Amino acid sequence: MADDHAILVENITMLNLADPMSTPATRMPNPARDCCAACGALLTGGYFFLRDREERYCPACIADRPRCDACSAPLGAQHWRLHDGRLLCARCHSTAVYDPATDSWDASKAPATTLREHVTASAVDGRILLIGGRWAANVHTVEAYDPATDTWATLPDLPTARGGLTSATVDGLVHVTGGEEERGTFPQHEVFDPTTAAWTRYPDLPSRRHGLASGAIHGRWVVAGGGKAPDLSVSDIVEIWSP
Ligand SMILES: [Zn+2]
Ligand SMILES: [Zn+2]
Repeated sequence: MADDHAILVENITMLNLADPMSTPATRMPNPARDCCAACGALLTGGYFFLRDREERYCPACIADRPRCDACSAPLGAQHWRLHDGRLLCARCHSTAVYDPATDSWDASKAPATTLREHVTASAVDGRILLIGGRWAANVHTVEAYDPATDTWATLPDLPTARGGLTSATVDGLVHVTGGEEERGTFPQHEVFDPTTAAWTRYPDLPSRRHGLASGAIHGRWVVAGGGKAPDLSVSDIVEIWSP
C-alpha cells in the first residue's frame, strides 16, 4: 500500500489516492481488499482506511454512515449500541485471545452474542463460560465460547440473575455465588454441571457479598473480599466451600 501518497482526513481516516483497484475485470474480487467493509460495495477508485487496520471503506459510507464511538470506522450491518447510547463496530466489540507463547493478543475472534458488564467467566471442558452480569438490569444469560470453532453457544440460564458475581471451576463443576441488586446482595450458590447442562442449588455463601473474587485450590473453593452492601462497600471476609 502506497502510504506516501495517502492524505490524512478527519485525523484517523486516510484516503489512498495512489493504489486504486488494479484490474478488477480480470480477477475475482477479494472482499477484504476490494470491497467496502461497511456496505460491501466494490471499491472502484479512492477508498478510506484507518491507521493499522486492513478494512477499507467507500467514500459514500465515510460521508453518510454513523461511526463507531471507539475507532470512528463507519458502521456496517453488524454493530452494537451500548445502553449509554455509544455505538461499537464489530472490530471494537471482538473477543481477544492472549497467547503466552508469543506474548500477543488476537482480537479477531467472534464476539459474544449479548452485551453485559459485571459478568463472571470460568473455563470448563475446553470452553469458556460467560455467566450472568447486567446490562441496565441483572441478567440470567450464560454463553459458552469454544476456541476450537471460534463460536458461541447459549447454555441454560443461571437460576438467579445477578451482576457483580464470582465463579470458579472445582472438579469439573462451575460454582457461582455473590452479586448485587438495588435492595441487597446475593448469597445463592449455584453450580453448573457441563455433563448434564443443568444448574443445581448448593448451600448459600455464609456472608452475602458482591464484587468478590474466588478460586479453586486443592478441590476447595475460596471466596474472598467484596462488599456486603450494594454499591461501594468492602470487606475482608474469606469463606471456603468444601465438597
Ligand atoms: Zn461502503
Ligand atoms: Zn470500532
